Amino acid sequence: MPPSTIKALPKSNESKLAKLGLRTDMDLVLHLPMRYEDETQVVTIREACLRGGHVSQVEGVVTKNEISFKPRKQLIVTIADETGELNLRFMNYYGSQVRQLAEGVRVRARAELKHGFFGAEMVHPGYKVIIEGAPLPSELTPVYPSGVGLSQAILRREIAAAMKRIDWHDTLPLALRAQMQLVDFEPAVRLLHYPPQEIDEGALADRSHPAWTRMKFDELLAQQLSLKRAQRARRAKGAPLLRAVGALSEAFLEILPFQLTGAQARVLKEIRADLRNPYPMQRLLQGDVGSGKTIVAALAAAQAIDSGYQAALMAPTEILADQHFRKIAGWLEPLGVKVAWLTGSLKKKAKIEATALVESGAAQLVIGTHALIQDSVNFAKLGLVIVDEQHRFGVGQRLTLRNKGSNGKTPHQLMMSATPIPRTLAMTYYADLEVSVIDELPPGRSPIVTRAIDQNRRDEVIERVHAAALEGRQVYWVCPLIEESEALQLQTATDTHATLAEALPDLQVGLVHGRMKAAEKQEVMDAFTANEVQVLVATTVIEVGVDVPNASLMVIEHAERFGLSQLHQLRGRVGRGSAASVCLLLYQSPLGGIAKQRLMTMRETTDGFEIARRDLEIRGPGEFLGARQSGEAMLRFADLENDGWLVDQAREVAQSLLENPHAANAAIVEAHLARWLGGKEDFLKV
Ligand code: ADP
Ligand code: MG
Repeated sequence: MPPSTIKALPKSNESKLAKLGLRTDMDLVLHLPMRYEDETQVVTIREACLRGGHVSQVEGVVTKNEISFKPRKQLIVTIADETGELNLRFMNYYGSQVRQLAEGVRVRARAELKHGFFGAEMVHPGYKVIIEGAPLPSELTPVYPSGVGLSQAILRREIAAAMKRIDWHDTLPLALRAQMQLVDFEPAVRLLHYPPQEIDEGALADRSHPAWTRMKFDELLAQQLSLKRAQRARRAKGAPLLRAVGALSEAFLEILPFQLTGAQARVLKEIRADLRNPYPMQRLLQGDVGSGKTIVAALAAAQAIDSGYQAALMAPTEILADQHFRKIAGWLEPLGVKVAWLTGSLKKKAKIEATALVESGAAQLVIGTHALIQDSVNFAKLGLVIVDEQHRFGVGQRLTLRNKGSNGKTPHQLMMSATPIPRTLAMTYYADLEVSVIDELPPGRSPIVTRAIDQNRRDEVIERVHAAALEGRQVYWVCPLIEESEALQLQTATDTHATLAEALPDLQVGLVHGRMKAAEKQEVMDAFTANEVQVLVATTVIEVGVDVPNASLMVIEHAERFGLSQLHQLRGRVGRGSAASVCLLLYQSPLGGIAKQRLMTMRETTDGFEIARRDLEIRGPGEFLGARQSGEAMLRFADLENDGWLVDQAREVAQSLLENPHAANAAIVEAHLARWLGGKEDFLKV
């Protein structure tokens, strides 16, 4: 297929279309309507008035056209047919519209009919100036998903034009279409853009119509093909052989102050087996907050070191990286492992030293933040890359670290996340990812009780904090998220700290936020860990990973502003010791529908998988994964809740097309991917 471009469009439109992801003719053709308007029928004005409250289309001649200034400036156009008359009211209008709707002009107008103060009226109707006897369309009129400043008229025109230019050949062979009972591509697409008047509108709206099924299948097939190809490409790469589970691994297990849980032992076995393969591992280690992923990662690192390679552990924040460093170095350095520490806030000299350790291979393990992926960091012999809280990193960042292997070998990759990906999502978005799950918490944890409390009871909450601290418990107080302004967020944190310090004079109240220097943050965290500080006021910098087992009360202000996974992560900072933990979600009423659902979910469950499932339900997969994760919301049509059966079918077809790679199949795969993914395929590869 020759690449086609959108021509003959003003630049501004082109960029607006591009914002919607519409760059080629095929993109436009696959930009399907979200709903339709029925302009196929006209009723008399009298009939429309009788039906009242419904959307109707009427036709009449303009009898009056005036700009009224009361109660505000507006254009009122009166039209009449032989059965009655009706006002069209425009609160916003252009001068050209005033001229266009001159007396004597014939119009068709479509809107809900209301009975206003001056009689029957339509407010801001859709309308067309026509000549008498102009035929009615026989098809429904498409309404497309649109962006700012992009009118339906432009979209309709561009899409119709693109439909004349594209190559319509069906990418699926006839036999396959017959076998899967799929309708043909071209008629399906045409029908979805221009459905005939008599179509089953319910099946169009809920996307169960066979034409929709074809679109969904094609989309899912493209995705599965692309993922499977990525998987093959990965398997074709060489990786360091990390075969030895030797002295270090054994000594490490011996000095651990606890036994691995059954789940930890199981996932460790899965990872160990992967590391022995001659191609790079790509494994996601999922486990709810507090399930003990760090130790598993450290044991994987020990295997790399035992095999004579280096391992790198990258965490999204300095606080977390530091915590890992202390914990893991505390375990491994006594066993003779050199652990290097590398973050952006290191002094120049220290940075140069750390980089040298990494480059010479003297450091067998490197722990740090994004600083690890700087160009200046070269590894002597990188065997294993570990990315903690992987969802916090962009695809490109993870890729950069993985590309730091040497001798043409791609290091193994272990990603960790407490944000679980439900099975259907994992299957569609991460087909090239093995998944290990820690589905068991270490013993001795007590459940967290969660309550939602109106913000106006803040004083009672402060008293509660006081009482808890006097009992020897430690408290996190999380400040509200202020997305618009980091400065404002900081201000709020500082204010909250001052208020709490004043209200709790007999306690030590600490403050930690993202703008503090790393050393300052560290000092506060240390004091909190040592229980010199009882109440820690924090912004979301503590969201990930922070582990202070004695903290057992968490207060989150303006909890309604946080997303579900963020609330779950925050709450995961408590419930790490044996004391009964409490999480108080302060909210500002009145609560919106989604916020209410979120808080209810938080009260009802502490199971990260269940929370993720509901989050997916509330937000949909595109938002759930976030643009950073998915590159783009790759599935536009298929809906994972309802179309799971199609996912399975698409997977099987993809499998068989790739497994029998004779020329015909290869051509099908190419054509199908070109049509559906164009240049977007790269996002799926990491
Ligand atoms: P996460 O999975 O959220 O990253 P961590 O790795 O930080 O969890 O572990 C949470 C806490 O549980 C840590 O203090 C860790 O030392 C402890 N821990 C991990 N595994 C076990 C175990 N098998 N038994 C007891 N405590 C454990
Ligand atoms: Mg962790």
